[in-house]
Amino acid sequence: MSTAVLHYTAAAVTDRGRKRPSNEDAFGFSVEHGIYLVCDGMGGAAGGEVASSIAVDEMLRLLSSRSECDDLASQMPRLAEDAIRATNEAIFSRSQRNLNLSGMGTTLVGLLVEERRVWALNVGDSRCYRMRERRLEQITLDHSLVEEQVRLGRMTRAEALRSPLRNVITRALGTQSHVTLDIFELEVEPGDLFLLCSDGLTRELNDGLIESVLATDSALDSRCTRLVEAAKKAGGHDNITCILVSAGSDKS
Ligand code: CA
Repeated sequence: MSTAVLHYTAAAVTDRGRKRPSNEDAFGFSVEHGIYLVCDGMGGAAGGEVASSIAVDEMLRLLSSRSECDDLASQMPRLAEDAIRATNEAIFSRSQRNLNLSGMGTTLVGLLVEERRVWALNVGDSRCYRMRERRLEQITLDHSLVEEQVRLGRMTRAEALRSPLRNVITRALGTQSHVTLDIFELEVEPGDLFLLCSDGLTRELNDGLIESVLATDSALDSRCTRLVEAAKKAGGHDNITCILVSAGSDKS
């Protein structure tokens, strides 16, 4: 195994898309602290925008103080759980206090990085993918009604795409007093590329198309822009957000 030190770089783009009047997606990252987040808000009035931006701000704030910990890698799952719990409470209590924000919530997909290890966090139907050796692999599992039916063998993928229930998510941040977080821990190889995105990207573009854009050698920010432009060209029915995180070695 290579022992080269990994250097992470990132780029992000968000876009309202072509149909929605506002952008309820939010993203944030800190390369210094190894934190990358995409949130897709929902809820009437301004609720969606409020929920997704509270989620990004709170998670960044809570997780960037973690660097004081000893043996960060072993503590990471617990730190992530604690941060999600506090963030969930922050959104939920805000929605309880303000009638206009009642019922608001957000998805959250995140990537936490510590040297050669990453943790993908997920609540809802935003996604984390890993591109390795030019092959794209979905890391997170969607918490959506139709995806759960597909995993149980009760619905085909084609039926899921057409289903009128395809927007129903089974987990969200801030809609209830408690939330369950999925955490996927992965070993990083030099050259790995991670994509975090909202469903505005993955509803418009299939994995093969995303893979072909990511497989090019252009700069990270231009690959982000190409993904978003392709999703808009395919319809742009929803807000579109993507973050790319690249793990380069000092040899490459
Ligand atoms: Ca969305």
